[in-house]
Amino acid sequence: MNLILLGPPGAGKGTQAKQISSKYNLPHISTGDIFRQAVKSGSELGKLLNSYMTAGKLVPDKAVIETIKQRLYKDDCEKGFLMDGFPRTKPQAESFDTSLKEQNKVINRVICINLSENEVVKRLSGRRHCSKCGANFNIVTQPPRVGEKCDHCSADLVQRHDDNEETVKKRIKVYNDQTSPLVEYYKKTGVLVIVDGARSVEEVFKEICEIIEKQ
Ligand code: AMP
Repeated sequence: MNLILLGPPGAGKGTQAKQISSKYNLPHISTGDIFRQAVKSGSELGKLLNSYMTAGKLVPDKAVIETIKQRLYKDDCEKGFLMDGFPRTKPQAESFDTSLKEQNKVINRVICINLSENEVVKRLSGRRHCSKCGANFNIVTQPPRVGEKCDHCSADLVQRHDDNEETVKKRIKVYNDQTSPLVEYYKKTGVLVIVDGARSVEEVFKEICEIIEKQ
């Protein structure tokens, strides 16, 4: 099964993707995670990517499309994939359609997790992840059991560099201008389903599972 998770930053795509990927055994492909990994490596490409990410801007389409093309050809995508944070622009979506066609693949479902702008700001400012194992938390909606420590390995929880207020505002604008037109794009092809992201992680996950199992 080939799935795309769409929605504004902070809607819960990453959290849902981890659970979907584990339950349905699909590779979780997050362009954001791939780029953060490149930044960590300290390479020249990583430095360039970091300049876009910390400014709340999108990485240029050409680089994103090339990254996804390479990822799509890996063996684990044979049984399907779960895209998280890709595509984010119309040229990315169009180029992705072409790549899939070349491999005789189709997109089965685009699940758009909706969230109001106020809620996005609230969630992103509370978002934390474990500095050691990467587990996700939110000090408002999904708090850790003890202080700002990971429930699984007790390491410190940290905030993403691009979750500060100024960058968050830019990311929301970028989403509204460049990514939200994809809702219409996928509506036209009949694969779009919208879910309300302003509920608990468990409730959203339950609805997403129902959508997937109806396939
Ligand atoms: P995310 O973790 O999905 O919120 O992505 C973090 C940042 O990585 C974004 O704000 C962009 O700068 C960059 N990024 C991730 N995916 C894409 C994409 N599909 N197109 C352009 N930039 C991206």
